[in-house]
Amino acid sequence: MQVFKFGGATIKDAKAVERMGMIVEHHHDPLVIVVSAMGKTTNALEKVVAGYMSGNITQSMNALKAIREYHMSIASELMANRNNMLLGEIKNIFAGLENRLQSLPAAPYNQEYDQIVCWGEILSTLIISHYLNHVGICNQWVDARHILKTDSTFREGRIDWDITSQLVKEKIDFTKSGLFITQGFIGSTVNNLSTTLGREGSDYTAAILAYILDADSVTVWKDVPGVLNADPKWFDSTVRLEKISYMDAIELTYYGTSVIHPKTIQPLKKKNIPLYVKSFLYPDEPGTIIGRDDYERLVPSFIFKMDQVLIHIHPPDFSFIAEENLEIIFNCFAGYGLKINLMQNSAVSFDVCVNNDQSRIQAVIKELEKHFRVRVTSGLELITIRYYDHETIDRVLVNKDLLMTQRTKTTIQMVVKDLG
Ligand code: ASP
Ligand code: MG
Repeated sequence: MQVFKFGGATIKDAKAVERMGMIVEHHHDPLVIVVSAMGKTTNALEKVVAGYMSGNITQSMNALKAIREYHMSIASELMANRNNMLLGEIKNIFAGLENRLQSLPAAPYNQEYDQIVCWGEILSTLIISHYLNHVGICNQWVDARHILKTDSTFREGRIDWDITSQLVKEKIDFTKSGLFITQGFIGSTVNNLSTTLGREGSDYTAAILAYILDADSVTVWKDVPGVLNADPKWFDSTVRLEKISYMDAIELTYYGTSVIHPKTIQPLKKKNIPLYVKSFLYPDEPGTIIGRDDYERLVPSFIFKMDQVLIHIHPPDFSFIAEENLEIIFNCFAGYGLKINLMQNSAVSFDVCVNNDQSRIQAVIKELEKHFRVRVTSGLELITIRYYDHETIDRVLVNKDLLMTQRTKTTIQMVVKDLG
């Protein structure tokens, strides 16, 4: 069996859903399809949550209304208003959500977030499942919250593999149907509260299901031709990487390549399940294969993280940075959940590069200032080159001031300031 995953951009309107249907139609083996929310629905639902939690009910109702219209119009266009059952289900979901917004939040932010944001994927899969049945592609819809069980770390649910394996094998039974449609990104606790797996987590869902069901492969369908060696947003001449080892994929996603969710690779690697990243616009093109670790050396890959901040930490008396200092520093970053992108120490200072996450940065600085002198430089970029050489380094450093460098045999990372 195989697992297909369709991201938000590949189902963002009726045309895209029809194209998806064509890809599925050409496939004859047993298949599980994992689907994200349509287009930018998750971002829109986040606005609903933000309004709700801050008491701005007009904001949340307006955002919800726009999401409702968007889904109703896609559903109507796909089935020419002939599927009243689907339209009824959509209306019910929105009535339920409106009801929820009428009463005050009763749980902490992250928990409320998951109870609202999870509906994006329920809506997309309902529409797609009905549509595919409507055009003769028979399938069974599965609520992922009934099969993916997580702990109650809302917004970052951690899978309970034992219960999940049992439920997945029970509910996804290929003697009953050859095609199952389910949601990426969402799950639930043992008490049936909805949870989510972290933004862009649908790829991870696909990997979890592939692992449990011993899939032959996973295909992630995207609006790009595969994994590119740089983001076309920052680079004019990108190349598609044909093959990547699991290890390279883990590193590239760790450093910030956004094509697949970082957690996706681990379960696949354990069972040697290949992952194909393919373009839904050109399904016959080869895309990128991520698989066993015996591939050749890669072409250089470039990963740019913008809006970076350097935090310089010095002991006040110019004493050495010793283990005791490091303990305080690391505890502080971990305690406030500020993720370190890069760090470097010299005899009398310790420099840390982080994303510009102001609320966390302020909290960390306040704490560090009890022990150290702290200086902050913002407006920086973190450039990572995997499989670098001199030429590639020179290429990215044009018009940049280099503030910090770190290199291993395969990877160089540089914190730079753009000189405009
Ligand atoms: N819809 C979710 C998000 O946008 C999950 C996903 O797309 O993978 O984060
Ligand atoms: Mg999405």
